[in-house]
Amino acid sequence: MEIKSRNFYNEILTEHNMHPDYKHELENADLRLEGVNPNCGDDIWLELKLDGDVIVDGAYTGDGCAISQASADIMLGLIIGKTREEALGLSDIFTRMIKGEASDEEIDSLEEASALRDIAHMPARVKCAVLGWHTLDELLGLE
Ligand code: ZN
Repeated sequence: MEIKSRNFYNEILTEHNMHPDYKHELENADLRLEGVNPNCGDDIWLELKLDGDVIVDGAYTGDGCAISQASADIMLGLIIGKTREEALGLSDIFTRMIKGEASDEEIDSLEEASALRDIAHMPARVKCAVLGWHTLDELLGLE
């Protein structure tokens, strides 16, 4: 059972890495910020389009390891259509999940992003997994 679920999570990460939904440039982005993880060489540009308080579109470009890229792609799928506050709430849960501090119920609310929960046991990859989310926090805090 454990092995089966691990494979399932790996499939989610591989799928987002090979066929990302949001890896492209965004025309007329309202917010744009670079996020860098020098430990691994991950470097992304996160772009968001806002209508009032709602994130109506988003995308990212850049390079990096499979975890950083898949995590950013999954994050965008989760936050588009959400309000700024809801997106920051999800980011808080994600960060706590990676630290091993989120409840099962909270982790469920992260949908596909819960595929990254095992990163909590891989300290060297933590900064890869949180790069997109930390960039999001900074970006939403800019205005
Ligand atoms: Zn990385």
